[in-house]
Amino acid sequence: MGKISIDTDLCIGCGVCVDICPEMFAMDGGDGKAVVKDNAACTGGCCKEAADSCPTEAIIIA
Ligand code: SF4
Repeated sequence: MGKISIDTDLCIGCGVCVDICPEMFAMDGGDGKAVVKDNAACTGGCCKEAADSCPTEAIIIA
């Protein structure tokens, strides 16, 4: 698996990804949307689970 990003147009700021995988995701203080932490690459584990659990499919694994 590869680089991970979040489509901020789709993200509704529910926090599910942060709950599932806090080492990969954080909530942006500004607009209430999730962000990917620096240099994040999805290597399976909770990263994939978070992407699968996002209600708006805003998490993109390239
Ligand atoms: S799970 Fe999806 S919609 Fe919810 S905060 Fe994360 S990226 Fe945004």
